[in-house]
Amino acid sequence: STPVATFCALLRAARMGLLVKGGNVLESLGEVRVAAFDKTGTITRGEFSIKDFLVVRDKVQMSQLLYWVSSIESKSSHPMAAALVEYAQSKSIQPKPEDVTETCIYHGEGIYGAINGKHIYIGNERIMARSSCRQQEAGHRETDGLKGVSVGLVICDGDLVGKFSLSDTCRTGAAEAILQLRSMGIKSVMLTGDSEAAAKHAQEQLGGVLEELHSGLLPEDKVRLIRGLQARHGATLMVGDGMNDAPALAAADVGVSMGLSGSAAAIETSHATLMSGDVLRVPKAVRLGRRTRRTIA
Ligand code: ADP
Ligand code: MG
Repeated sequence: STPVATFCALLRAARMGLLVKGGNVLESLGEVRVAAFDKTGTITRGEFSIKDFLVVRDKVQMSQLLYWVSSIESKSSHPMAAALVEYAQSKSIQPKPEDVTETCIYHGEGIYGAINGKHIYIGNERIMARSSCRQQEAGHRETDGLKGVSVGLVICDGDLVGKFSLSDTCRTGAAEAILQLRSMGIKSVMLTGDSEAAAKHAQEQLGGVLEELHSGLLPEDKVRLIRGLQARHGATLMVGDGMNDAPALAAADVGVSMGLSGSAAAIETSHATLMSGDVLRVPKAVRLGRRTRRTIA
């Protein structure tokens, strides 16, 4: 390939807001046969709002629960964390991250924190199992009837004490981007750590354009699915923003991270970074990749 042609293509990519790490990335983009999209923060805005927040045990007060949750979530960069902190503040509860003496983040599950001598887990049903919560069975039932599609649980010293639900909206242009990819012969699938209900809800908002939905995934599950797509279809594109997407972004033939909202890990392991939330630039970049391959062939 001529250095000049590659340089021009890289410039054109930069002008459309795609920072590419090397000329061969554009060529690989032109070869893509299938695209995998993360949900939260990639297909959706990653701006959750709390729909319901409920105390499950009478022993605990709402203000106490919101103080624990917001203080611990202040330590997390997960999109759900920001929504929970904001929610507490809207109820006049000030988070006190300085009161949190210990934290541990479980990707695809949630977060653990110690505060005022209490051991608190916040997250999905996976975190419930990890917390050795005494109401394992109840957890499933307790999440019934909540209005949002993503559900969270709060466990304090082994007791389920709270539950909440959240919702997020799809980015403008997400459905259009996937339709454009389809018209170029590229099928799109969703890989998410969120629940099946949340995955289906996003698919509905998109008008059913995705060909496969995979939910409840851990970071390593996303990698396994990327490898499966590569084996079945060939060159695979992965688009994601989270720390939990980093291994899948590295495993894909082309990993594209979301630059503005993305985690440092995702930006580091990806091959290219989209400098805005405009996912319509994904099919645009593939078209540029295809043109680049033709010029340098
Ligand atoms: P995604 O693939 O959709 O970006 P993640 O792997 O980041 O999702 O998270 C998967 C799930 O883990 C979330 O849907 C949520 O249920 C739970 N989770 C992760 N981090 C947190 C947190 N800080 N607080 C509450 N729940 C969390
Ligand atoms: Mg994400």
